[in-house]
Amino acid sequence: SGPEAARLVASRVADVPDFPKPGILFKDLSPLFGDGAVFRAVIDEIVGFHGADSFDVVAGMEARGFLLAAAIGYATGKGVVPVRKAGKLPREVLSASYDLEYGQATLEVHADAFAPGARVLVVDDVLATGGTAEATLGLVERAGGVVSGFSVLLELGFLAGRERLAPRPVHALLAV
Ligand code: AMP
Repeated sequence: SGPEAARLVASRVADVPDFPKPGILFKDLSPLFGDGAVFRAVIDEIVGFHGADSFDVVAGMEARGFLLAAAIGYATGKGVVPVRKAGKLPREVLSASYDLEYGQATLEVHADAFAPGARVLVVDDVLATGGTAEATLGLVERAGGVVSGFSVLLELGFLAGRERLAPRPVHALLAV
């Protein structure tokens, strides 16, 4: 259930002060990914929330989003699209640059990653400022897909990331 999933996330997040820069409280979800029962439970919660019939493909943002996207894709028999940092993809790409909570970044997808009108579930571990998710939304749409939903394990509510995605809803297993 939702409350159980929230407790699981809360119990498997390590707070790391001043990483990767002074003033940033990094939310490290390695303990969650490293616990097989918990990992399976959060994947099942995300799939159950959206329903496997609501999306055609799963997109995950480099790097921790890949872990979620791969598991969701396997669990539902859907394909996975990696949204990668600049310069990693070998063929024609679409690029989006944006500001992060701690720096700047560019994300890319292959220009042919999505079938026309493909419904795309977008997943990442943490929603902070929402810049990463907003950039991914733009990439999916420019590549001809439609974002059917966003899921994150943890939302940092004080950074108001979900407002950048409004009116699209964001499913967060835990918001702090
Ligand atoms: P943002 O674009 O600001 O929403 O940042 C989200 C991306 O950066 C995600 O891919 C997160 O993994 C990572 N991130 C940003 N801030 C944090 C944080 N405080 N703790 C852990 N990961 C973070």
